[in-house]
Amino acid sequence: MSALDLTCATMSDLIGDYLDKALGTIEYTTFEMHLMYCSDCRTYLRQMRETLRRLAGLRNDDIDPREREYLLDAFRRARR
Ligand SMILES: [Zn+2]
Repeated sequence: MSALDLTCATMSDLIGDYLDKALGTIEYTTFEMHLMYCSDCRTYLRQMRETLRRLAGLRNDDIDPREREYLLDAFRRARR
């Protein structure tokens, strides 16, 4: 697998493992090489990190129960 073979859609699939440091050496290197030439994926990665940073600061009580249910429902639908 070379960085040129890696599509942005595949990058999106791998980003969770990348952030969890769960990629193998070749996948990690290929991911990093793709980031070097793809500004869209760099932006996406930056947004994911920012989202995770903000979510980490939230407590369960910070979210309105209706908003929480709406979000959980959206996540459930997205996983199907
Ligand atoms: Zn890309």
